[in-house]
Amino acid sequence: LDYESGAASEHHDPPGVNINVPHSARIYDYWLGGKDNFAVDRGVGDAMIQAIPGMRYMAGENRKFVHRAARDLVQREGIRQFLDVGTGIPTRPNLHEVAQAIAPQTRVVYVDNDPIVLVHARALMISHPAGRSEYISADLRDPASILGDRALSDTLDLTKPVGLTLIAILMLLADEDDPWSKVAQLRDALPSGSCLAITHPTADFNPAEVDAAVAVATGAGMTLVARDEEAVRRFFGDWELLEPGVVPVSAWRPDDPDVDPKAAYYWAGLARKP
Ligand code: SAH
Repeated sequence: LDYESGAASEHHDPPGVNINVPHSARIYDYWLGGKDNFAVDRGVGDAMIQAIPGMRYMAGENRKFVHRAARDLVQREGIRQFLDVGTGIPTRPNLHEVAQAIAPQTRVVYVDNDPIVLVHARALMISHPAGRSEYISADLRDPASILGDRALSDTLDLTKPVGLTLIAILMLLADEDDPWSKVAQLRDALPSGSCLAITHPTADFNPAEVDAAVAVATGAGMTLVARDEEAVRRFFGDWELLEPGVVPVSAWRPDDPDVDPKAAYYWAGLARKP
């Protein structure tokens, strides 16, 4: 029984999962071709595709950035532990799979606040035996709850560099939540040599399409904020941006040199703590 709508559900929905309200994690899963989404998510997801025909391509480009950034963090920056906030429903390869394929001892702590992510992450985020993957159910708007979690201190050594990844999550925090101060609290908890990777959707490349998609999401009761380059840069604080800086996601160290840099409407960057 779905207690909020009173409708009988065929499934036994996991605790806290509401199939009558669209969820960002499930809409994104739908765009990526996943199965962990419901009619309400597909409805909003399709309406957003109407606004941005390249939406599925964009989601794919965002995932490819995760793969390139994780690879370079391990190979070039020597990062062996990650804190990934806003993990999403597991999508292979997941961050720990990319990192552990290069350095099996890599440890990853995943954080998300969506109950459906909790269910799938526990089942699917299986670590290489030499490393570790852990999951924390917590909210980016309360960084202390992330930093104070036993699973974090048991898994990560905060005296050694950490790769903090905030991939396609910050747009889900309103300006009123001051996401810049939340990110700063996480940055401050990490030692010198730590790195921060961010992707963030923007209206800078195609205002008409992005404004229309934001209107769909907002109309469905979701928070979705496209931000300009300057606002995205501020998330890195005084950390040193590594080349090529804050650039369109597809143009960040592309594997395919012929990719259209502005076809995916995300800014992306990677910075290191001095
Ligand atoms: N990082 C993944 C998934 C992005 S979807 C990727 O880019 O492939 C955004 C995710 O952020 C969703 O799973 C959503 O549940 C999560 N999220 C949204 N707001 C959050 C918050 N305040 N705290 C933690 N997670 C949040």
